Amino acid sequence: MRASTATAEVSADDAVRRGRLRLDGVRKVLGGKEVVSAVDLETEPGEFLTLLGPSGCGKSTTLNMVAGHLTADGGVIEVDGRDVTGTPPHRRSMGMVFQSYALFPHMTIADNVAFGLRMRKVAAAERDRQVAEVLEMVGLDGMAGRHPRQLSGGQQQRAALARALVIQPDLLLLDEPFSNLDAQLRVRLREEVGALQRRIGTTTILVTHDQEEALAVSDRIAVMADGVIHQLDRPREIYLRPGTDFVAQFIGEVNALDGTAAGFTRDGYACRVADATVAATPAGEAPAEGTEVRVYVRPEVVRIRTDRTSGLVGTVRETRFLGSRIRCVVATPAGDVTAALPFDADVPAVGEEVTCEWRPSDASLTAR
Ligand code: ADP
Ligand code: MG
Repeated sequence: MRASTATAEVSADDAVRRGRLRLDGVRKVLGGKEVVSAVDLETEPGEFLTLLGPSGCGKSTTLNMVAGHLTADGGVIEVDGRDVTGTPPHRRSMGMVFQSYALFPHMTIADNVAFGLRMRKVAAAERDRQVAEVLEMVGLDGMAGRHPRQLSGGQQQRAALARALVIQPDLLLLDEPFSNLDAQLRVRLREEVGALQRRIGTTTILVTHDQEEALAVSDRIAVMADGVIHQLDRPREIYLRPGTDFVAQFIGEVNALDGTAAGFTRDGYACRVADATVAATPAGEAPAEGTEVRVYVRPEVVRIRTDRTSGLVGTVRETRFLGSRIRCVVATPAGDVTAALPFDADVPAVGEEVTCEWRPSDASLTAR
C-alpha cells in the first residue's frame, strides 16, 4: 500500500517479502472437544491463502488463533520467523475483517478507519493522510464524514477493510467478509479485494465456506474438515486432483469410480474399473498395484467419443442443455459418468454407445 509511494520507508519488494505465516501443530480445544487438530500450514509472503470448509470445521477458530483472539492449546504460530503464539492481538500487526462489519456505529467512517492509528499514537496530520489514502484505495473517498448506518453493506465492508489495512498489517485476516452481501455484490467485492490484494501484496488469509469464492480469489486453498486440513494446493489442483474423498465431494460435482490399481503406464497411472482400464494421477504417493483405489474425474474434463469402442464404454442415458454447458450422463459398467460438454459440442444421442475419456493429469486417484 504505502510501500509503493515515494515517501515509503520500505520498498515494495520488502513489503511483499513480509508476512510469512507458519502454523506448526496448532490445536484448540473448545467445550471439551478438539475443534482444531494439529494444523500445519505455511504461506508465501504476499500470498492469498484461503481456509475453505463447511460450517463448524474450525476455520474461524484457526483464524482467531492466528490473530491472537484465541490462545492455541498446542503448537506454534510464527510470522516471519518470530514466534507469536503468546503475543497479544494488538502486538501482532494483523488486520482483521469479519462477516458482521463490526464498525463503531457512533463514529464517522474516517474515525473508524483512524482507530488503529490512534491506538498506535500516530500524529494527527499523518493519520489524516493515511486515512484519506486508504479510503481512496477501497473506493470510499467522499464517505469519510458519514456514519456506518449511512453506508450500504458493501460500503461498510469496504470501510472495515480500510480499517484493517490502514495499520499496514503483516497479515490481513478475512473471516467470511462477503457472506452478508447479496450475490452480485459478493462477487464484485471479492474481485475488488482480490485485485487490491495483488496490488498491495499483503499476505491474506481468507476464511470461507463458499467453494466458488475460494477458487476465484485464492493463490492456494487449504480444504478443512473436522479441524483437519485435508489438502493445501492451488485451486486447479484442488479442483482437478482432489486428494481425499472429502475434498472431491465438497467442491463441485465429481465422478468417483472404484477400481484396482494397475501401475504406471505411458498414459499415467492405470486403474481397472469394471472391465475397462482408465488412467489418472495419484494424489500423493502412488498406491501399490492391486490396491483398491478410487478415481476422481470432474465432469468438465470428460470427453465423449463416438468414434471408438475401447476404454470406458457406456450408453448415453441423458443429455440436457444447461446454457453454458451440456450435461451428458453415460451409463458405464463402472457406474454413471457425467460429462459437462461445451455448449457447441456434438451431442451424442440418447442410447448411443460412446467412450468416456480424459487426460490422466486432469483426474486423481487415491487408495480407498
Ligand atoms: P467455522 O468457522 O469453520 O464455521 P468454528 O471455528 O467457528 O467453525 O467452530 C469450530 C467448532 O468449535 C464448532 O463445532 C463450534 O461449534 C465449536 N465452538 C466454537 N466456539 C466454541 C466455544 N466458545 N465453545 C465451545 N465450542 C465452540
Ligand atoms: Mg466461522
